[in-house]
Amino acid sequence: MVVVGGGLGGLYALHRLRGLGFNVRVFEAGSGVGGTWFWNRYPGARCDVESMEYSYSFSNDLQQDWKWPERYGTQPEILRYINHVADRFDLRRDIQLNTRVTSAVYSPESRRWRLETDQCDVISAQFCVMATGNLSTPRVPDFKGLESFKGKWYHSGLWPHEGVDFSGQTVAVIGTGSSGVQMIPLIAAQADHLTVFQRTANFSLPARNAPLDPEKESRHKAEYEQRRRDALDTPFGIAGHPAPTKSALDVSEDERQRSYESKWNEGGSISFLYTYTDLLVNKASNDTASEFVRNKIRSIVRNPATAELLAPKDHPIGTKRLCLDTNYYETYNRNNVSLVDVKSDPIQEITETGLRTRDHEYGPFDAIVFATGFDAMTGALREIDIRVQDGPALADEWASGPRTYLGIMVSGFPNMFVITGPGSPSVKTQMILAIEQHTDWIADCLQHMRGNGYQQVEADPAAQDDWVQHVNQVADSTLYPLANSWYVGANIPGKPRVFMPYVGGFAGYRQKCDAVAENGYEGFRLTT
Ligand code: NAP
Repeated sequence: MVVVGGGLGGLYALHRLRGLGFNVRVFEAGSGVGGTWFWNRYPGARCDVESMEYSYSFSNDLQQDWKWPERYGTQPEILRYINHVADRFDLRRDIQLNTRVTSAVYSPESRRWRLETDQCDVISAQFCVMATGNLSTPRVPDFKGLESFKGKWYHSGLWPHEGVDFSGQTVAVIGTGSSGVQMIPLIAAQADHLTVFQRTANFSLPARNAPLDPEKESRHKAEYEQRRRDALDTPFGIAGHPAPTKSALDVSEDERQRSYESKWNEGGSISFLYTYTDLLVNKASNDTASEFVRNKIRSIVRNPATAELLAPKDHPIGTKRLCLDTNYYETYNRNNVSLVDVKSDPIQEITETGLRTRDHEYGPFDAIVFATGFDAMTGALREIDIRVQDGPALADEWASGPRTYLGIMVSGFPNMFVITGPGSPSVKTQMILAIEQHTDWIADCLQHMRGNGYQQVEADPAAQDDWVQHVNQVADSTLYPLANSWYVGANIPGKPRVFMPYVGGFAGYRQKCDAVAENGYEGFRLTT
């Protein structure tokens, strides 16, 4: 069995499947394990889910032993944790680093995958598990002239391991998604001058990060197993947030403002969006929350024109991934920071010294930082030449958008599982829980096959069609499609506009997966 990817998904897949007696080999492109947390080393990189939740649940000893220093884990801390897991569960002996899988071809005759890597390995495997991640293909926009730039340039997702010292430099940051919002305050504090190029203003909430309160930690640890079980029954896989009971329109303006204020002070995105039942499905309700945050921005940012530029007006709050920040809006009050709107005046090219928009020239810059995101959810899989012998490539099959059954398998590609693939809750949940749920489901499926002499499993095309339709219907019943987000591939020119994650909630999704298994893997074709 080959597992592609040595991030949080690949490591757990190795541990779980090796534990069942399978012969497992992991291939990882990086020179270390950790996936997202290995690559994204930009200043301020930090998880926006609280550490006590954003961690593996499969080992109670592990979750009891590990001590998270802060409410939200920093990138170095999370990477330390992942390396600890790799050592603690003796995973490294089955992981080949510095190796990118380039192709995977299935032979219907031998019923085996033949994989090739950029290190000239050729591997034969009965099963492939794609743990390639949802945000693992960094994208620098195709700007003319980048090669002529005389300064240094960086992408948030390919950050140099030795770090970057911006002291004394003039710096440009392009992009104001989660990565930009996290790095901008830190770069501003270090650089001589920072110019931020914003195409779309994003909503960001204060993280209210702090050292982890020891009392809170021991209470959490005493209740850990119950909390993990509770998380399974929530829409986003995170426990500790009581479900809302009212619509935002069922309460008075005063009560609404008090509730939003209390969530704003508490910090965190889940609790804010969970203030009312309908913030993501009812535009009028959402408007109340969106306007609350816009007013907060107006109250923080002193220059009214800058505040208006930073206040998002083209999408409802939560329909693009909500950012969490520390001093993001406050940073625009610094004398050494300027904001440029590249929606009204788009970037046309990078020059030797800076960049040119349609109407202006900016620079000189010592460095340009691209916080411009990823070819999300499908990029990593499409980059591998995956096909059934003499058949179409997965990339071609997905030319009009990804199609999966449950986000776990793709019809026409037998014995290939995807961990948190498009069509599953994935990025709309606590990712590690989603990874564990998929991996456990795959492990059960493989045991079922072994116990019954099945050699091959494949998603039924009709079941896949029904699932794709369901994923779309659920998305269409929400406000999500109103935003140009990476959830719909809008950040990549030419990418088909398809809503990729499943937003029907983790709890219901998990029940569906369990029911499929209980009904003899309904919608899958098992053959001996
Ligand atoms: P992103 O959300 O896709 O943001 C990319 C930014 O670059 C956007 O502001 C985008 O503008 C801008 N951009 C792209 N192409 C551009 C162009 N040609 N000209 C000008 N601007 C351009 O990427 P990200 O910030 O790396 O975050 C991706 C996801 O990773 C997040 O949504 C989150 O799920 C995850 N993440 C999480 C954390 C965390 O846990 N705290 C931190 C970082 C990332 P448009 O909006 O107009 O496209």
